[in-house]
Amino acid sequence: MLAISFNKLSEDAIDGLLAHTTLITLQKDFPEQVAKAKSLWDAKRPVKLFNELKETLALMCSGNQRCMYCEDSFADEIEHRRPKNLYPQQTFDWDNMLYSCGPCNGPKNNQFAILNPPYANGYTDISPKRGEVPEKPKSGMDALINQRVENPLDFIWLDFNTFRFTPINPNQDSIEYWKAEYTIKLLRLNARQTLIRGREHAYHSFRNGLSDYLRNLNPNRQVEFRKFLKSAPHKTVWEEMKRQYSQRDDLRDLFQQAPEVLAW
Ligand SMILES: [Zn+2]
Repeated sequence: MLAISFNKLSEDAIDGLLAHTTLITLQKDFPEQVAKAKSLWDAKRPVKLFNELKETLALMCSGNQRCMYCEDSFADEIEHRRPKNLYPQQTFDWDNMLYSCGPCNGPKNNQFAILNPPYANGYTDISPKRGEVPEKPKSGMDALINQRVENPLDFIWLDFNTFRFTPINPNQDSIEYWKAEYTIKLLRLNARQTLIRGREHAYHSFRNGLSDYLRNLNPNRQVEFRKFLKSAPHKTVWEEMKRQYSQRDDLRDLFQQAPEVLAW
């Protein structure tokens, strides 16, 4: 899971999003706002606006349009980081949109949690209950890492022995610990064997690729290796290899022989 650098939308698209948000804001109460947000979103109109959202998000994905959460599967669903049921006014907020795969988006659904001091108490789940009248959420800091403004690698790191993510800050009184913990749990980043196997496979493929790069005398070797890195899934694994290579016997020499790859 990586920080996402955001592309700008056209003026038309920005105006279109704003017009939808205004319609939601004008509703008389919170449940009406939620209902309006959902109906406008489900209508997916105008088509041109939704196509632009999808096309722009697709360009912001790593690899071959991989999901911004798991980096394993094809991303084809616009995902609201803050759910529509809790934050209807952010349904058409460009800053609240990510591109994800069905297996990430489906189970996440309307789940959300916040953090308030004292942090030793952990996060508070504010997910709306099925069948209940929507209520304005309590205020607090988002427990889910915001890839738009935060770098997930400041909160989580990948353990190359297990290929599972773990909080960098082990202190359970800290915001960082709970953000990492909640993000890993909500997105089931350690709960899916396919993701763990995918990260392990990516590790070996990046290491072999780097080793081939060092042996390769082809003048296009840089272009080829960079192309390989750009199209590969699980880009976080590569970022972690760059961060952890000096502590690993199987990576240290490779990275020291090709320091230029640290910028790729
Ligand atoms: Zn996914």
